[in-house]
Amino acid sequence: MKKVISVVGARPNFIKIAPVHKAFEAYRNSVTHLICHTGQHFDEKLSRIFFDDLEMPQPDFYLGVGSASHAEQTARIMIEFEKVLLDEKPDMIIVPGDVNSTMAASLVASKMGTGIAHIEAGLRSFDRTMPEEINRIVTDSLSDLLFVSEMSGMKNLSNEGISGDKVFFAGNVMIDSLVHYQPRFSRSHIHRKLGIEPGNYILTTFHRPANVDHREGLSKLVEFLNTCATYRNVIFAVHPRTDKMLKQYDLKDRFSKNVLLTEPLGYIEFLALIQKASLVVTDSGGIQEETTFLSVPCITIRDNTERPVTVSEGTNYLAGTQLKGVERLVEDILKGSAKKGKIPELWDGKTAERIVKIVVRHLNEG
Ligand code: UDP
Repeated sequence: MKKVISVVGARPNFIKIAPVHKAFEAYRNSVTHLICHTGQHFDEKLSRIFFDDLEMPQPDFYLGVGSASHAEQTARIMIEFEKVLLDEKPDMIIVPGDVNSTMAASLVASKMGTGIAHIEAGLRSFDRTMPEEINRIVTDSLSDLLFVSEMSGMKNLSNEGISGDKVFFAGNVMIDSLVHYQPRFSRSHIHRKLGIEPGNYILTTFHRPANVDHREGLSKLVEFLNTCATYRNVIFAVHPRTDKMLKQYDLKDRFSKNVLLTEPLGYIEFLALIQKASLVVTDSGGIQEETTFLSVPCITIRDNTERPVTVSEGTNYLAGTQLKGVERLVEDILKGSAKKGKIPELWDGKTAERIVKIVVRHLNEG
C-alpha cells in the first residue's frame, strides 16, 4: 500500500483538495490518501463549514498552528508537519495553491526526501511583495510533480528552468468542485435568506493586505462600494481579516444601507451568489476563475493577476488598486457591455482524476 498526504491550511485549499480526495477513491486498494489540516485557517466560517459543504472526512492530522506572523506561522507548520512525516513516512505529499502551509510543508518534505506534488503550479503575479508569490516560487522549485491549471503556468515554469518532464498541464481542480456542486448550489435558498433578487446585485469580497491593511486604501474601498450600491444592492462577504481592519479603522458604519455585510459564507451559498450576480468585484484569486467558468463579469481590484487566462479568455477585468475609472467600468458592465468570455482549456471538472492518475503512476514507477 502506498501512502499520500495532502496538506491543506486555508479556505481555497479545502476546495482544491476535495475533488482530489474523491479521485483517490478509485485507487483505495493501492493508495491510502490522508488529509493534514495545518490549522492556518481555524475560524469555523473559513474551515469547518467547507469540510461539511464539500463532504470531506475530518482531517487525519490537525496541526493547530493558528494565525501568527508569516515567519512564525511557517515555522510552526514546519515543526508540527515534520512530526507527521516522521510518524507516517508517506510516499508523497500533495500541496495545493500558494498559502504558507503549501510552502512550509514542501520545505519539510523536500528535506526529508519525500516527493512533492504541487497543484496549481506555475502561476505567477511577478509581484514579490505578495506573500503568495514567494510561496509559489519556493514550492514549485521543490516539487517533483507540477500540475498546471492554465497555459501561462507552463510558460512561467519553463522560463524558470523547471524540467518539462515534471510538469503536467492538468486543468483546474477548483472548477472540479464547482462542476460537482453546481446542481446543489443552483438549488440554494441563499437569495431568499438574504432577501435579495437573483440576477440583480453586485457581490464583493476583499482580503488582500494591499487592499485592506491601510486606512486610506480601505476607506476608499468603502466609498467605492457605496458608489456601486447606487447602481445595485451590494453584498459584501467580509473576511475576518477585513472585518478586523474595518473595526480598527472605525469604518464599519460608513457603509450605505444598500451594502449588505455578511460573515464569510459557506461554499454552496457563496457559489449560488456568484452564479446569479450581475457583477462580482473582488481581490480573490479563486473567484476570478469561478466567475470566468460561470460567465459572470468580474472586476479584480488588484494591480496584477497570477491567473491571466481569466482576463485574456474569461470574464475578468483587472482594474488596479487605485480605483481610477472603475466606477465607469461598473456602470458599463451593468448596462450590458461585459465581455462574454469562454471557458479555458481543460477546465472540465475532470482535473483531479487526471492528477491522481499521474500521481499513482509516479508512485508505482518510483
Ligand atoms: N468563498 C466562499 N465564501 C466566501 C468567500 C469566498 O466560499 O464568503 C470561496 C470562493 O468561492 C472561492 C474561495 O473561497 O472558492 C476563494 O478563497 P479566497 O478568496 O479566500 O482565497 P484566494 O482564492 O484569493 O486564495
